[in-house]
Amino acid sequence: MSGYERGRVMNKLADLMEQHTEELALLDGADAGKLLLLGKIIDIPAAVQMLRYYAGGADKIHGESLRVSGKYQGYTLKEPIGVVGVIIPWNFPSLMFFLKISPALAAGCTVVVKPAEQTPLSALYYAHLAKLAGIPDGVINVVPGFGPTAGAAIASHMDVDSVAFTGSGEVGRLIMEASARSNLKTVSLELGGKSPLIIFDDADIDMAVELSRLAIFFNKGEVCVAGSRVYVQEGIYDEFVKKAVVAAQNWKVGDPFDVTTNMGPQVDKEQFERVLRYIDLGKSEGATLLTGGKPAADKGYYIEPTIFADVKEDMQIAQDEIFGPVMSLMKFKTIDEAIEKANCTKYGLAAGIITKDLNIANRVSRSVRAGTVWVNCYFAFDPEAPFGGYKMSGFGRDQGMMAIDKYMQVKSVITAVPDSPW
Ligand code: ADP
Repeated sequence: MSGYERGRVMNKLADLMEQHTEELALLDGADAGKLLLLGKIIDIPAAVQMLRYYAGGADKIHGESLRVSGKYQGYTLKEPIGVVGVIIPWNFPSLMFFLKISPALAAGCTVVVKPAEQTPLSALYYAHLAKLAGIPDGVINVVPGFGPTAGAAIASHMDVDSVAFTGSGEVGRLIMEASARSNLKTVSLELGGKSPLIIFDDADIDMAVELSRLAIFFNKGEVCVAGSRVYVQEGIYDEFVKKAVVAAQNWKVGDPFDVTTNMGPQVDKEQFERVLRYIDLGKSEGATLLTGGKPAADKGYYIEPTIFADVKEDMQIAQDEIFGPVMSLMKFKTIDEAIEKANCTKYGLAAGIITKDLNIANRVSRSVRAGTVWVNCYFAFDPEAPFGGYKMSGFGRDQGMMAIDKYMQVKSVITAVPDSPW
């Protein structure tokens, strides 16, 4: 298909998604315990926006003309890499699906998607909608299954040319190993984080409290860029802590299909138990539990919004990705100290800064080792902004036109020009 044709059918799929937003949000809500309302106004519209962004890019892929020396001329030709394997997690089933497949389709690749075993339903629905949109059979393939079987088969397959993965560091390593042992397929990995949110003395405290609450409790903390480490400068620390506790206590946990709920249940028993284990660990490591810390209901995988204070950098709750509604609060004095502490985990996915001082914002933005920095905002996502990790948060970038390049080969074509006048 030409780029224009690809863009056209991608836009058609986006139209169908808009018509089916309600069902799609329901499927993700039922699978993952996500808020139905947010599915309708955030997850599905963001997936649509992603698809349309890359639909627009499909006919704007071009190489370069090269000034080679001697009696030659050269140009680069960008060609689709081939079959792209996509292995994704369960926290944003729809968004992850389109984050990965949209640039691959724009590039002219076909995809084999393995959704997470917890959340296969919307992916299957997308395969159905793709057919209705006129996307040819074999272009979008959905293979639900478990990681060690279906996922591993993709990672080690000799006919898969590239794998795009989002998930845990352990599985990311397995995927690289499988690639190395099989056909050396290219790999891009997005592996989670332990993102710092740094709040300076001059911040508007109410705004900072609201942003910090959103940064960790949105989607029950099941967000790879969750602002799980909150650093507050000493001048506003005490007031911030008081307000943050009240804000957490007002964050309503309950039925994800009730429009007044702020936070549904963790995705499954395994995650529920894992988060509670980390809460116990935080207590035994000597952090101060300010609020929450236990199941929020007798039944179901609900956990109270939880805040720990007096967290030290060497505690495991300050280093590991908990993937649940658990905020770690730390105090700092100077900008240098904030930067050093912000950078002291193995991760580098995102960071937030709250200050009115432009010089502080600029300095810290340049000093934190993270793929995304939000200044006076959090979770401000857009398909235009490349997204990915520094350090052990992975490599390769989703979003932005540069993501299309992950799924393309570059061929140099050199032609002799024997009669060249130069
Ligand atoms: P999470 O902790 O977010 O569930 P995982 O890394 O375990 O992260 O899972 C992310 C995705 O990787 C899921 O689709 C899962 O099925 C898949 N997966 C798990 N194990 C493997 C594996 N050995 N090979 C390939 N994919 C895997």
